[in-house]
Amino acid sequence: MAVVLSARGRTASHSRMFKLDPQDIEVVRSVQRRKTVSGALKHGKLRVLVPAHLSKAEEAYFVAKVRRRVELQETKARLNHGDPLRKRADELNRRYFGGKLAYASVTYVTNQNSVFGSCSVRRGTIRLSHHLAGMPEWVRDYVLMHELAHLVEPGHNRRFWEIVNRYPRTREARRYLRAYAKGEPVS
Ligand SMILES: [Zn+2]
Repeated sequence: MAVVLSARGRTASHSRMFKLDPQDIEVVRSVQRRKTVSGALKHGKLRVLVPAHLSKAEEAYFVAKVRRRVELQETKARLNHGDPLRKRADELNRRYFGGKLAYASVTYVTNQNSVFGSCSVRRGTIRLSHHLAGMPEWVRDYVLMHELAHLVEPGHNRRFWEIVNRYPRTREARRYLRAYAKGEPVS
């Protein structure tokens, strides 16, 4: 029920990925702190609290980890601001399903690196990888169409593909995604 990205995943540079500027990261060493490292983003600046006893190398490791987590959280929040995927799904639902599909949520996630999209038929939730946010709209629409079709037909059988093929750029989009997953240049 998922559009496979690749077995090993891919860490491409995403045009829509939120990145913190190194000068917007402040590291505070705290003697009260024994083990835990924490970080909070405030007004676009990240403040990381680390135990005072950490070595410079340990500090760098934990700061990078917190930074990555915060960047992914912020990317997710920004991509979903205004619920754009839900609006797009509603349009595809009207156009290709007569508006008959029902779903609880359609969102971008940043923890999905091995698949482009997934659908929980039971919960009615559709999740798209943030990798898609930097791709052409017609590619993202294909993945949405694919996941929406699973609400009608959970398996990848003939009936399923008949539904997905109502979307005219299915073949082209699948070719694009295969090339992307292999790390080939895509156009
Ligand atoms: Zn599928």
